[in-house]
Amino acid sequence: MQEKTSRYELESTLLQVAGNYSWTWDLQARELFNRIPSLNGEGALHPAERIKLLSEEDWERLTNDAEFSALARDAHSNLPKPLQINDGTTVAYFSPEFGVSEMLPQYSGGLGVLAGDHLKAASDLRMPLLAVGLFYRDGFFRQALEDGQQRERYVTNNPRFLALTATPARVELQLADRQVTARVWRTNVGTTRLFLLDTDLDVNDEFGRRVSDRLYSGDREHRMRQELLMGVGGVRAIRQLGYEPAKFHLNEGHAGFLALELLAEEVAKGLTLDEAVTAIRTRIVFTTHTPVPAGIDRFAPDLMRKYLGVWADRYGVDLDELLKLGILPGGDDHFNMAAFCVRIAGRCNGVSRLHGEVSRAMFSEVPGGSEITSVTNGIHARTWVDPEMQMVFDDKLGPDWHLPAADAWNKVDEISDDEIRTVFASGRQRMISMANSQLGHETNLDPDILTIGFARRFATYKRADLLLADIERLTSLINDGDRPVQFVFAGKAHPADEPGKDLLRNIVRFAGDPASNGRFIFIPGYNMAVARAMYAGCDVWLNNPVRPREACGTSGEKSALNGGLNFSILDGWWDECFDGENGWAIPSSVADDPQQRDREEASLLYDILGDEIAPLFYGPGGIAPTADWLNKVRHNWRTLGPFVTASRMVKEYGERIYQVAAGS
Ligand SMILES: *Cc1c(COP(=O)(O)O)cnc(C)c1O
Repeated sequence: MQEKTSRYELESTLLQVAGNYSWTWDLQARELFNRIPSLNGEGALHPAERIKLLSEEDWERLTNDAEFSALARDAHSNLPKPLQINDGTTVAYFSPEFGVSEMLPQYSGGLGVLAGDHLKAASDLRMPLLAVGLFYRDGFFRQALEDGQQRERYVTNNPRFLALTATPARVELQLADRQVTARVWRTNVGTTRLFLLDTDLDVNDEFGRRVSDRLYSGDREHRMRQELLMGVGGVRAIRQLGYEPAKFHLNEGHAGFLALELLAEEVAKGLTLDEAVTAIRTRIVFTTHTPVPAGIDRFAPDLMRKYLGVWADRYGVDLDELLKLGILPGGDDHFNMAAFCVRIAGRCNGVSRLHGEVSRAMFSEVPGGSEITSVTNGIHARTWVDPEMQMVFDDKLGPDWHLPAADAWNKVDEISDDEIRTVFASGRQRMISMANSQLGHETNLDPDILTIGFARRFATYKRADLLLADIERLTSLINDGDRPVQFVFAGKAHPADEPGKDLLRNIVRFAGDPASNGRFIFIPGYNMAVARAMYAGCDVWLNNPVRPREACGTSGEKSALNGGLNFSILDGWWDECFDGENGWAIPSSVADDPQQRDREEASLLYDILGDEIAPLFYGPGGIAPTADWLNKVRHNWRTLGPFVTASRMVKEYGERIYQVAAGS
């Protein structure tokens, strides 16, 4: 009897801890779930699923483990309490993807991870924020390698195993001549609520069920349906659930159609379209994420007419007038979602200082475009800093080191060389084990060699293969007798991006070339877990995009907090954060010819790596990394620590962009 009761209690406690994604950063919860046996095969399973799969013997063991039970109780008592959020200061944050955890595969890259980090930091700051997106039944693809190429595989997600709870909301939406119904899932990310719309319902026909099938897949028309579901459907969902947000934050233009629902409400009151735009602007905030025109969502006029004709008819709006709101002056007749969002948002921002400048130029002809400001992206430190390093920070800097305005970082000199070396060595070992397990065989990675990391989406402007520009120079760095260098790569190419897949093939081919001596590897199956292990396991983080196409870039910020030194083109966040000492800059070439530019920048990259980085790491013999290297690591923490966090970013959004502080 006794044992049965305790098993019931333990199971209920564990499920409650698994039911709030605060376990992705709470150290006790992470430790707790690390002790729950995982099944082999499909990678790590969500704790909610693992708990449901435990055997009788597992329960027998766990219920008899007093330490485990105590840990479970502690993690449970740390669970964030839900915030009362309907007080007129609430922000509704809309995003097509959310990277909360690799176990909730509803993200493709940096945009989604940023959204996840935004929710987590809002939770840390107790900011009243709720988030809205889609639940993609098949998520984003999982990557495998086959014959040196990327293979894409989709796995169907079961919401019951992902800590999603059904809400009573049912959203009806007209998509051209079809009627679609969506349900709304809810989960908690600390004190913030995340709502995800899902059309995979029996009441829908096959067409309807497929609307929310996969992230970033299908043709333009499919994307249009998804964006209408997220925007229009999303507003209807939160209204049904009783929320009346003061602000709507569009994380990139994909959710811009939410304005249709808000405009309709104003037009129904008798306002003209122009007046309605003015009326909703104070409630809308838009963050633009790409300085690359080809990266912006655009819809052909025919498609717009097909999907928005009904809407315009219903509210007596002149469709042509609506379509004009999406025209980018100097562009074509397509409806440009970013131009539309700039027109309908009262506040717009880019995601780094440089990107703000580029965006003002890009939208200068759009009303409001010259007022675009910037809030530089940050990262959720408790999610991304390795737990061993976090424990050193907690001990030496105090537990608030990850919060804004922490002068904690001035105390980094109290962290000794030995402490840093110990955590680095452990991070390296764990990265090597992760690489071996992802690749399914032992790699030749050497734990004592200077290790350069590169992991991100394989979009062409990021130039994943720039290092391959001169194989001879690259191999001489790799095989240097005194100061060898090794490289670790990971990343996915979008399934439809053939040039991106070519880059990936080039990297994989060189990794298999004997000339690379096993010191240049590509890790397949890129996701947040692979990325985390790399930030904690690499000495240097390389980023070599074509300037100024990297709007911000956040992987370098994650590496920096883990003690990695950035080695990057002066683009995005690095353009404003590099101070001459906290890492290295790769100068940008002024050549007009792209090939010439790539050659020149690659050549500088080899120079700096061989002449400055490797000598500092190895020193004149003895222990690597040298004391001088570790001083640079501390300087990196001191200068970047207070700035690169998502808590600093979200605080800035609150003060400068949302401006919804209670009482205002
Ligand atoms: C941080 C992160 C990114 C963003 O990388 P960039 O530096 O912005 O290119 C992409 N994917 C994952 C999984 C990440 O964790």
